[in-house]
Amino acid sequence: MSVTSSLPVREPVSADFATFIEDFRERLRHVFRTRADADEVSTTRGLEPFMMREVQRSSPLSVFIPEEYGGRGGHVRQCQAVLAAASYESLALSLTIGINGALFLQPVAKYGREEIKQGIFERFIREKHMGGLMITEPDHGTDALNMKTSYCQGEGERYAVSGTKHWAGLTGWADFWLVTARQERPDGSLGRDIDFFILDQDDPEQCVDVEERFHNLGLYAIPYGRNRVDVTVPETHKLVPETMGIKMMLDTLHRSRTEFPGMGMGFLRRMLDEAMAHCKERFVGQKSLFEYDQVKKRLSRIQAYFTTCSAMCAYASEHAGIENNLATSTVSSNSVKAVVTDIMHDAAQSFLQLTGAKGYRLDHLAGRATVDSRPFQIFEGSNDVLYAQISKAVLKQMKRAKEKNLSNYLSEYEMTSRAAKRFSGALDFEVDYQMPQRKLVDLGRAIGRVVSMDLVIELGDRGFRGDLVSGSLKDPDHLPAKRRRWRRRRLR
Ligand SMILES: Cc1cc2nc3c(=O)[nH]c(=O)nc-3n(C[C@H](O)[C@H](O)[C@H](O)COP(=O)(O)OP(=O)(O)OC[C@H]3O[C@@H](n4cnc5c(N)ncnc54)[C@H](O)[C@@H]3O)c2cc1C
Repeated sequence: MSVTSSLPVREPVSADFATFIEDFRERLRHVFRTRADADEVSTTRGLEPFMMREVQRSSPLSVFIPEEYGGRGGHVRQCQAVLAAASYESLALSLTIGINGALFLQPVAKYGREEIKQGIFERFIREKHMGGLMITEPDHGTDALNMKTSYCQGEGERYAVSGTKHWAGLTGWADFWLVTARQERPDGSLGRDIDFFILDQDDPEQCVDVEERFHNLGLYAIPYGRNRVDVTVPETHKLVPETMGIKMMLDTLHRSRTEFPGMGMGFLRRMLDEAMAHCKERFVGQKSLFEYDQVKKRLSRIQAYFTTCSAMCAYASEHAGIENNLATSTVSSNSVKAVVTDIMHDAAQSFLQLTGAKGYRLDHLAGRATVDSRPFQIFEGSNDVLYAQISKAVLKQMKRAKEKNLSNYLSEYEMTSRAAKRFSGALDFEVDYQMPQRKLVDLGRAIGRVVSMDLVIELGDRGFRGDLVSGSLKDPDHLPAKRRRWRRRRLR
């Protein structure tokens, strides 16, 4: 333990970004490695008060706040860098920042009313407040559009919102919540559209009640639970959609999914660094693990994942800004989210495999990383469902274009044209527009890999290290083997 309680603050919000991110990385190292006992951090629920206080001294959330409200301007490249710096030290901390950024600050910046934005953003910057999003209900997770939380116009230009929400990250900790609800009609039925309300936990009228805290399997640093919502909020707290609320929700979720690679980036780099270090140090049968062929295969796969994730970060930086409406970006957003979370978890599994029994200790990074990365494949759209949605969207476009040949379609489609050309033979077959759901999932998984390879090829064209790009494209797990298996099944 260090005697230094905290690092000095170097005017974090006004400093140039290079200084800011360097300061942030240094602060994180200090918090997670010098001050805190790493083993304790991984086995204790919540975060020691000094940890979040120290992290917040750098004002990392300012990157998600527009400049006119005192933030760093919401540049996605900077948001990705902050998420990556955090996930190198702690995936849970990175998710905490991601929740605040993509699920609260970005939707409020884009759809919030002018009269309340200044006050909210000021509280994030000056008072280090936090915010989260409540969509999921006990009976409506994947089926969120049928949620039962409702609202109606109450007295004095206020809305009354009521329902039960669970699994919202930062339960009991957030100062603000974005809560989704459907309008109650005069006959008691609920409208089809979804609206968002900002709930300020400093106002007793808007306070949600934590009914139960969950014992989450991983991500110990983040509190989860079940919340009762029975509040009234002023009209100014209702977000204003451009057209429909459902489109606002899709835009918000697709933006968040596109930004997942920021969290993947630091995490994958850490998996690679730790796995390499372990394999060089560990001797089995008088040679280091590093010299075994299968071990090299696992390490090069993690390296390939790192390159894929870099390509996705570059894509997010250019496409996920709030000035773009992502409501219809089903194929790209779902591909990025589902593929990056699959490779994050697979990298953790490989690290655990290489670490052997030592990695299975609760206080070892390998075991923790495996458990912590798993729910990323479940939340913000279960990957099975996202892969099926990718296929449905592609098949719909193919049907509209009266095209049955997958290779012909993907060779012209902007998200896949470069990669599809490399695999034209393997993708050269006619699709069945009515295929069963399990095949939609398999097809979506293959398309997701083609999309991610396309992003890697683009990264290479822009001058990223050629050996890493070709290593990533050659990775046996990246596409060809699975695709061939899938194709054989498809043709049987
Ligand atoms: C760690 C963690 C953090 C979370 N953070 C938040 C948060 O901040 N805010 C929030 O609102 N929610 C959050 N959630 C909730 C999360 O978004 C939901 O768990 C998710 O949407 C799935 O809903 P469900 O749990 O009700 O599962 P269900 O809807 O019951 O689905 C379970 C499984 O059934 C299968 N399935 C479901 N529907 C279909 C279908 N149509 N076709 C084929 N298979 C299907 C899939 O395999 C799916 O994974 C979080 C969850 C976890 C675990």
